[in-house]
Amino acid sequence: MLYSRNDKENSKELLAPIFGTREEDREIPKYVLGKSPIEPRIAYRLVKDELLDEGNARQNLATFCQTYMEDEATKLMSETLEKNAIDKSEYPRTAELENRCVNMIADLWNAPKDQKYIGTSTVGSSEACMLGGMAMKFSWRKRAEKLGLDLNKQKPNLIISSGYQVCWEKFCVYWDIEMRVVPMDLEHMSIDVEQVMDKIDTYTIGVVGILGITYTGKFDDIKSLDDKLEVYNQKTEFKVFIHVDAASGGLFTPFIDPMLEWDFRLKNVISINTSGHKYGLVYPGIGWIVWKDEAYLPKELIFEVSYLGGSMPTMAINFSRSASPIIGQYYNFLRFGFEGYREIHQRTKDVALYLANEVEKTGLFDIYNDGSNLPIVCYTLKKDQVKWTLYDLADRLQMKGWQVPAYPLPEKLSHIVIQRYVCRGDFGLNSAEAFMEDFKMSLQELAEASILFHDSSDKSVHGFTH
Ligand SMILES: *Cc1c(COP(=O)(O)O)cnc(C)c1O
Repeated sequence: MLYSRNDKENSKELLAPIFGTREEDREIPKYVLGKSPIEPRIAYRLVKDELLDEGNARQNLATFCQTYMEDEATKLMSETLEKNAIDKSEYPRTAELENRCVNMIADLWNAPKDQKYIGTSTVGSSEACMLGGMAMKFSWRKRAEKLGLDLNKQKPNLIISSGYQVCWEKFCVYWDIEMRVVPMDLEHMSIDVEQVMDKIDTYTIGVVGILGITYTGKFDDIKSLDDKLEVYNQKTEFKVFIHVDAASGGLFTPFIDPMLEWDFRLKNVISINTSGHKYGLVYPGIGWIVWKDEAYLPKELIFEVSYLGGSMPTMAINFSRSASPIIGQYYNFLRFGFEGYREIHQRTKDVALYLANEVEKTGLFDIYNDGSNLPIVCYTLKKDQVKWTLYDLADRLQMKGWQVPAYPLPEKLSHIVIQRYVCRGDFGLNSAEAFMEDFKMSLQELAEASILFHDSSDKSVHGFTH
């Protein structure tokens, strides 16, 4: 075939090396749309390079969120990005996979077979907590109304420890709920059950127990919370139930500590949420919530969408979103099975225990969490041992590419600054050893170097939210 002169010129353009193109020689459109299109291969490189100096996700020890999936999972997820999770009628097989995941999770959480559990996927635990909170508010109101309580006399309240994740504060603000916070103190690094009981009244919509406090990785004692509430509920018509925020623990503990009673085995636990993108090992964003029985999910919160000519219940705050993380979750469940999850999580836990032990051996730190609940290592500097702060140490580690936050604990403990490593499934022992080498070298550098130290009163240097 003969080329015209024009064709030749066009094909020359396609042959141009990316870094020889006009686009790489001028400022790209940033805040106003550019006038003309850009070739896809060049646009790809430009956008990719915009992200060049972002940290390496797998060296980010700050986040609980999944930073690695197998190639097959990634392929599957990228091939299903266009599927809309809400469109059950167009994608009935996707809806079926979601349904299977809910069933598998309900089984992991020991949902009683004689009750009708119900659940859904969400964007993450934040949406799931919002749904769990709303269900508690609506069903409290129904019970209270029946019992003749004056609903206008005071705001309904929710009881939670000060180790709550920010989504609960949002829930309380959005839904006009008084948040009754049980402060953590040095003796109680998780919820103080006695104080919960002092805070309960007839306007309490529920108590939240946290399986994996974001700050420290510790677990609330949900079993003893349940025992205390059972005694209380026996004596009153104004029953109070538990929602468990198991964002991080919900897909970890069933594999590693199946005997720990924190889930639907406990009588007063009525709903549980988790993040599939934390120890469910899926890229963000995917979360799950399951109610023990449909009785705990008021009908007003359920909406029907069309499904195969019939209708299907949905309870979600968002409408459209990609179903690909749901498909990624099902892939992981199918691929790993119980034993696979257990092996990955056990290895992750071994790494956490190794790191905690190494940190302790330096003699400079007090360990707050040694990886024995969640694989989280969390420590503070011993008093008056060194001149530098944990913020300085975080800076040194950052120079080697490691992102390790230092931040103050909440409320009564805010004078204590801690540092935390979240060990994840893609952080093997060899990476952990490499990290430890950098950690020890940083300690040495801090001991020897004359550097500008952070003002220890400056608490805002390395914040974190998840
Ligand atoms: C991470 C976390 C959340 C929020 O979860 P997302 O999935 O990021 O929305 C809520 N509660 C706890 C305890 C968490 O650890």
